[in-house]
Amino acid sequence: MPLSAATSAREILTGLHAIMASRGSAQSKLDKVVDLIAEKMASEVCSIYLLRENNLELFATHGLRKEAVHVTRLRMGEGLVGTIAAEGRILNLAEAAEHPAFLYKPETGEEHFHSFAGVPIMRLESPIGVLAVQHADPRRYEEVEIEALQTVAMVLSEMIAAARLTDGARRSRLRSAGPLRLSGLRLVAGMAKGVAVFHEPRVVVEHTVADDIEAERARVYGAFRKMREQIDNMAKEAEFGTIGEHQEILETYRMFAYDEGWSRRINAAIDSGLTAEAAIERVQQRTRARMQEIDDPLLKERMHDLEDLSNRLLRIVSGRMGTAAQTGLARDAVLIARNLGPAELLEYDRRRLKAVLLEEGSLTSHMVIVARAIGVPVIGRLHDIRHSVEDGETILVDGDNGSVIIRPNRQLLSGFEHRMTLSQKRRAEFAAIRNLPAQTLDGVRCSVMVNAGLAEDAGSLAMSGADGIGLFRTEFQFLVSATLPGRDRQFRLYTKVLEAAGNRPVVFRTVDIGGDKALPYLTDDAEEQAENPAMGWRALRLSLDRSTLMKAQARALIEASGGKVLMVMFPMISEPWEYEEARGLFEEQVEWARHAHRKLPSQILYGAMLEVPALAEMLDQLLPRVDFVSVGTNDLTQFLFAADRSDPRLAQRYDWLSPAILRFLKRILDQAQSAGVPVRICGEMAGRPLEAMALVGLGADNFSITPAAIGPVKAMIRSLDAAAIRTRMGQLLAKPPKDMRKALSDWARRHDVVVG
Ligand code: PEP
Ligand code: MG
Repeated sequence: MPLSAATSAREILTGLHAIMASRGSAQSKLDKVVDLIAEKMASEVCSIYLLRENNLELFATHGLRKEAVHVTRLRMGEGLVGTIAAEGRILNLAEAAEHPAFLYKPETGEEHFHSFAGVPIMRLESPIGVLAVQHADPRRYEEVEIEALQTVAMVLSEMIAAARLTDGARRSRLRSAGPLRLSGLRLVAGMAKGVAVFHEPRVVVEHTVADDIEAERARVYGAFRKMREQIDNMAKEAEFGTIGEHQEILETYRMFAYDEGWSRRINAAIDSGLTAEAAIERVQQRTRARMQEIDDPLLKERMHDLEDLSNRLLRIVSGRMGTAAQTGLARDAVLIARNLGPAELLEYDRRRLKAVLLEEGSLTSHMVIVARAIGVPVIGRLHDIRHSVEDGETILVDGDNGSVIIRPNRQLLSGFEHRMTLSQKRRAEFAAIRNLPAQTLDGVRCSVMVNAGLAEDAGSLAMSGADGIGLFRTEFQFLVSATLPGRDRQFRLYTKVLEAAGNRPVVFRTVDIGGDKALPYLTDDAEEQAENPAMGWRALRLSLDRSTLMKAQARALIEASGGKVLMVMFPMISEPWEYEEARGLFEEQVEWARHAHRKLPSQILYGAMLEVPALAEMLDQLLPRVDFVSVGTNDLTQFLFAADRSDPRLAQRYDWLSPAILRFLKRILDQAQSAGVPVRICGEMAGRPLEAMALVGLGADNFSITPAAIGPVKAMIRSLDAAAIRTRMGQLLAKPPKDMRKALSDWARRHDVVVG
C-alpha cells in the first residue's frame, strides 16, 4: 500500500521522533527505525548502510538476514548501494538485478526481492549512508514514497551524526575527491596558505523533526518575507554595491525568491513533519538531485543562484545572519566569497586573513584596492570555488599566477612551499632596493609615492621606501565606520597620518563616496535607484551637495595640518567650476580658522584629480588654477572605454597599454608640462612595472602606487634609460602595433629592463 500524502510521511516522522527520544543504544534505535519504515511503507525489506572506513556497512535491516548486519560491506561506487552513495543519487528499480551496478551479496538473502529503491543519507552535502527498501513484487516505488524515504533519510542523518555512528559525517565527498587546481584572474599578487573559510558560512541543520508544524510554517513565512525584502534591497548592499553585472544575478534571485513553486515545496516538506530548516534543506537536496541529471551549464549556473538563496533563507530562519568576520578567524584563513565589498573585507582580522578567493571580482574594484593596500592576495573569477571546497580544507593560493590548489597532497605542498620561499626571496630583493632613489640609468629622478587610506598605512611609510603618500583615500575611514565619522575623528586620523609621515608629503583626497563605496548612513534614495552609481552621485558631486560634510572635512584637514603643508585634491571633477567651488569652500574654512585663531597650515596646495575624460578637454582653463594634477587611471580608463571597472566580464578586455589610453595620457602630460604643473599618476596602472615603464616613456615621472609595488617599480626605473623609452614610445604611438603590450615587453627584454 503506497503512501499517498504528506500525512503518511508525518506518521513515520512522528514514530522516528519517538524512537530518537527514547532510551537505548544507537544500534537498537536503528533496528527500530528499519522496522518502522518497513511497516509504514509496506515493504518487505528496509536497510540502513552507513559509511565507515570508506565502506558502506549494513548497519540495520528489516527483512534481510540478520547475520549480514555489520558483515556486508560495499565500497563507494560498488553495487547499487555504493552507486547511490558515490553519486549522491536515488535509484528506483522494478528489477534490481537488471541494473548494471547490481552486485549479489549471498549472505543477505536478497535474491527473493525484485524491486529496490534507495536514497543517499547526506550530511553537509556529503553522503554518509544509504537508506534502502526492497519488495518481492517487481514494481517501481511511487514518487511520494521516494519523497518519504528522502525525508526519513534527512532525519536519520541527524540521529547518525548525533550518535557519531559514521566517520563519514566528518568526511567529505570533496575530500575523497583529492587535490584540485583551479585558475582564476590574478587580482592581488602574493602567495598564501590557509584553511577555507566561507564569508557566508553554511548552516548545518541540527533539528529536523518539528514539534509544532504551524510554528515552523510561520517561521518559514517570516523568513521568506525577510529574504524578499533583502533581495529587493540588495542593489544597495556592499556585496552588490556596484552595477550592471549583478543585474542578471539579481533578476534570477528575484525570480526564485518570488517563485511560488519553491515556497510550496518547502511548505509541503513542513507538512510532512520537518522543521523549517530541514524543510528548506530537504527541498534543496531534491533540486540538487534533479539538477544532477541535467547537463546544461546555464541551468547549472542558475542552480548555484538557487543554492545561494536557499542558504540565505536557511541563515535567516536559523538566525545565523552574521558573516565569518563576526565569528572571527581562528586560524590562518583563505576567505571564500562570491563577491565582497571593501568594508566587508576590512571587518576581518588582518593577522589571520591570508588570502581572498572570489567567484567574481575585477582588478580595479575598491575591495581589490583595499586588499592590495593591506597586502592580502586576491584571486577572482574562480567559477564555482564555493562548491569545490569545504570549510576547513587547506588551500594554497598562488596569487602571482592566479591559481589555487585545494586539498594539496604532500608533493604539491612541498612544491608550493618551495615557490613561496622563492617569491619571498624576490620580495626581499625588492625590499633591498626600496630605499634607493628611483632614478633612471640616464639620471631622471622619479618620485614614487604610495596610495593609502588607513592609519596603519602611514605607520609603515618609512619602511616602504616611498617618497610620501600620493593618494590618501579619506573615504576608507568612512567605509570602516558604522556611523558617519565626525570632524573630531577625522582630525585625529589626519593628525596621526601627518605625524607618521614626518617630513614626507601626504596628499589627502576628499571623500570619494558612492559607486562601489556606498555607505548605508549616507546613501540617498535616488542614488540607490541609479542604474550606474559609478557615474552617478559620487565623490565631489556628493560632497558639493552635502557641503556640511565637506566643510567638516576641510576643517579637520586644515586644523590637522597646522604649521605644515596641506596638500588636498578633489576626486571626480568633470568641469572646472566644480574644482573652483570645492577650493572656494576650503578657502572659506581657512578664513574661519584664521578668525578662530587656529594654527593655519604653512601652505596649502590644491590639486584636481583627472578621472573624467571631459576634464582633459578643459585643461587650458584648469591648469592655471591648480597646484598639481593627479590622474586616476582606474576611473579614467573605465570612462574612456565605457567599461565598468568592477565588471568581471570586462576585467581583461581592455588593456592599460592600449594606444587610446596612452595617447590620451600623453596629451595630458604634455599640456601640463607646458603649463609647469606637476602630474602624478595614481591609479593601479602605475603600480605595474611594464605599465609604469610606458608611463615614463610618455614623460611621467611622478607616481603613487600600492605599497607592494614600490620594489618592483623602483627596480624597473633603476634599470631603464628614460630617453630611450621616450623615443620608443613616440614611435609606437605614431604607428601603434597590433599588440602594444607585446611590443613593450619585447623592448624591455631587449634593453634589460626589470619588468617582471
Ligand atoms: C582612480 O580612479 O584611479 C583612483 C586613484 O581613485 P579610486 O581608485 O579611489 O577611484
Ligand atoms: Mg577614482
